[in-house]
Amino acid sequence: ARRAPRRAAPVVGAASGDAARTSDRVSNLQNEGAYAVLAKATALEREGRDIVHLEIGQPGFATPEHVVEAGVSAIRGGKTKYAAPDGAPSLREAIAAHVSTTRNVDVRPEEVVVGPGAKPGLFFPTLAIVNEGDKVVYPDPGFPTYRAMIEVAGGIPVPAPLRADGASFDMARLSDLVRTHKPRLIVLNSPANPTGGVMPRADVEEVVRLAEEHDFWILSDEIYSRLVYENSESDDESDARGKAFSAISVPGAKNRVVLVDGFSKTYCMTGWRLGWAVMPEHLARKVELLAVHSYGCVAAFTQEAGIAALVGPQDDCVKMVAEYRRRRDFVVKALNAIDGVECPVPEGAFYAFPDVSAFGKKSQEIADGLLYDAGVAVLPGTDFGANGEGKIRLSYVGDTATLEEGVRRIKAYFDGLER
Ligand code: PMP
Repeated sequence: ARRAPRRAAPVVGAASGDAARTSDRVSNLQNEGAYAVLAKATALEREGRDIVHLEIGQPGFATPEHVVEAGVSAIRGGKTKYAAPDGAPSLREAIAAHVSTTRNVDVRPEEVVVGPGAKPGLFFPTLAIVNEGDKVVYPDPGFPTYRAMIEVAGGIPVPAPLRADGASFDMARLSDLVRTHKPRLIVLNSPANPTGGVMPRADVEEVVRLAEEHDFWILSDEIYSRLVYENSESDDESDARGKAFSAISVPGAKNRVVLVDGFSKTYCMTGWRLGWAVMPEHLARKVELLAVHSYGCVAAFTQEAGIAALVGPQDDCVKMVAEYRRRRDFVVKALNAIDGVECPVPEGAFYAFPDVSAFGKKSQEIADGLLYDAGVAVLPGTDFGANGEGKIRLSYVGDTATLEEGVRRIKAYFDGLER
């Protein structure tokens, strides 16, 4: 089942002729929708329009002060040279210890690869696992990077639909897809972007069982692992309640799981570019080589900040999670109070993914209408795959005033639509 070669698109603004063509590998790449919406919203703002931003997927809080201090003093202390390509040993030790406690599994530093954000932890292991023509199952709706990395690796994307509340796959369909396509890899994302869904433990265990039966890898994107809204006042790491269950926690699963997590969401460090992936050592050594030859290494001072974040006080994170839960409760309740809008309660991350199909319009039309007519920036569900049709994604990272004004405008917009 090899793909037919694609004719690559010419580079806009480049000289014509074959030398100006890009490779097949990049010909299908799509941008993340959030960037396109942000650009449209910014253009409106330049015209003097007032826009409420609910499209952004990054924390509205500042990086904790002790983490900033650790980064600044590392720069002043001269930590400005090349670092180890797979990460500073002290940070990898801290990550191994953190993952061992939070996932209840024994992880060694040799199994940790640090990267500039969580994204390299998705992209490079995929390049190191997937061969040309291999099938890869991934959630649809799901984070747009999944499809992009599968295509760049030469794999064949196999989108797997989610169940109605977005919390997990439609497990019957998933098991059919696995039997039909015999994938090389499956991507899990719990808590999920864009649905906020948290997979039930039994479903994660079933995926692991399928992986063992049909011999495929599991790439588990757990970047929102700390943003789960039950029991969020407890900072006791050994307390399993209120946690998303990880595939790596299933006994015996570790040799086929790549676990991806990082600092961006938990410690409000999106711009620092710091994340990690845990994987079997033989794979880690290949991913390390991909790091050597691409980004080289992560800034040493950034990694010092990462150590401070992991081993330092967690109260900023605990407070932030409690605040997000309050915002989630407010937004979900307000959305459900609008006639025609149905919003499942997301158990994690910081997104609401309401169903607006009752208005009989495409998601894209609704997102454009909300932006241009009502002055609220949201993302159409279809930015996350074809199965996102009928939905929109709002992120509730904004402060109370932003969220109140945002949902007020959304209600006014939908109340004014004919159904
Ligand atoms: N995975 C998911 C599901 C995400 O939503 C994001 C950020 N939007 C990432 C990975 C990327 O994280 P980072 O910025 O650390 O690369």
